[in-house]
Amino acid sequence: PVSAFFSIPDALTPSLTPAIVHLKRDFNQAVPLSVDATLQTRFGTFPHSSFISLPPGSQVRASPSYPDPRDQRKRKRNSDDQPAATGFVHVLAPTAELWTSSLPHRTQVVYTPDSSYILHRLGVKPGSQVIEAGAGSGSFTHAAARAAYCGYPDGRDGLGWNGEKKGKVWSFEFHAERAKKLREEIANHGLNGIVRITHKDVCAEGFLVFEEEGETISPAANAVFLDLPAPWLAIPHLTRTEQSALDPEAEVRICTFSPCIEQVTRTCATLRQYGWVDVQTVELSHQRLEVRRQVPRGYDDGAGPRSIAEALTRLKGVNDFREQRKDLQVALSAGEEANFQGLGFKKGNGRKMWGNGEEGRLTSRQEPDLKSHTSFLTFAILPREWTEEQEKEAADKGEDKG
Ligand code: SAM
Repeated sequence: PVSAFFSIPDALTPSLTPAIVHLKRDFNQAVPLSVDATLQTRFGTFPHSSFISLPPGSQVRASPSYPDPRDQRKRKRNSDDQPAATGFVHVLAPTAELWTSSLPHRTQVVYTPDSSYILHRLGVKPGSQVIEAGAGSGSFTHAAARAAYCGYPDGRDGLGWNGEKKGKVWSFEFHAERAKKLREEIANHGLNGIVRITHKDVCAEGFLVFEEEGETISPAANAVFLDLPAPWLAIPHLTRTEQSALDPEAEVRICTFSPCIEQVTRTCATLRQYGWVDVQTVELSHQRLEVRRQVPRGYDDGAGPRSIAEALTRLKGVNDFREQRKDLQVALSAGEEANFQGLGFKKGNGRKMWGNGEEGRLTSRQEPDLKSHTSFLTFAILPREWTEEQEKEAADKGEDKG
C-alpha cells in the first residue's frame, strides 16, 4: 500500500508518518517515531523505543528508568511546573480520523462528523477526483484522500470502482506557509500522488493546475468542497467551459462550508446563477449523550413507603426482597396497616433499590464537548452537459442520461 494511512501495519516502525499516541479520551498526540527520541507527557516519559515493534493498539506503561515522577512531584510542589504522573498510553496506527484529532492546528479544521457526511453526500468513492479549497490544516484533505483513493482498509491499489482512474484530491491553498507545511505533511504521510497541493488563490485564478513546463492540467473533478470565506467568488470558476476544472462526462457535486447565513445566501444565489441545481443547505448538530443509571434513593434514606400497600407496590418484581414481600402480604391480610412503621431495609449489596423494583432509571445528559465546527453545509449538483452526438450515441445504446 502507498500510505500507512490506508492499512494497519502488524507492528509500529520508525517513520515520518506519525504513530498516534492516545493519552486519554479526546486527547491524541501524533508522534513520528524515531529510535532515540523520547515522548514527555503528563502521564510519564515514554522512549519511542518502547512503542517500536509493538502491534498498534498496545498499551504502554511510562518508563521506569526515568526518575520516579512522584519524587519529582515532591520536589516541584512549590514550583509552577505541573508535576509529572506515572501512567500509561495506548499507541495506535494513523488513520484520517486520528490525524484530525491530533494534527497541529494552523486554521479552523473540519472534524470527522462533518467530513464523513460531506464525503458521503458528495458521493466520493475510490476513483473520485475531488477539488478542495482552502486546504488549511489538511484535516479534510486526509479524509478525502482516504475516501477517494481507497475506501478499504486492506489498501487496494486505489483504482476507481470501475478499475479505471485512480482517486485524487486536488487541494488549493493561497497562504504560502500553510501550503508548504501541508506539502511536507502529505509527503511524510506517503500521500504524494494521491493529494496534490497547489498554492493558488482560487477566487482570483480558478482551479486549473499549472505544471512547471507551462502545461495546464484540469483536475477533471466530480466532487468539490469549498471551505473558504467567500465561496461565491470561486463558484464562477467551476463551469463547463472549454478549459474547465470539472469532469465533462460526469455530474459534479459541490459542498460549501460557511458559518454565517449571509454567506450561505450569497453562495446559493451564485450557485443558481451558474446552473447548479438541487441546492440544499443543512446544519449538522452533533451531540454526545452520556447515558447512566440514576442512583436511586433507597428506603433507608428517608424516602421509605408510608403504608404496607405502598411498600408492596415498590417491591413488586424485586427478587432480593421476596421474603419481605411475603411478610408484608401477611401483615396486610391481617389488617396491620395502622401499625405500619415504615421499612428499614438494608442496602443489600451496596446498590440501593428503586421503588418500582428497577435498579435505577436510565438517564442521559448532553456532553457539550464534541468537537465540530458549526457551519452551514450547502450542497448542489451541476448536471452533465450533453452534446447532440452524445445524446444520439446514448440513445442508440439505450443509456439513461446521468
Ligand atoms: N478545510 C480545512 C481543514 O479541514 O483543515 C480548513 C480550511 S481553513 C478554515 C480555510 C483556508 O482557506 C485557510 O487556510 C485560507 O488560507 C484558505 N483560503 C482562503 N481564501 C482562499 C482562496 N481564495 N484561495 C485558496 N485558499 C484560500
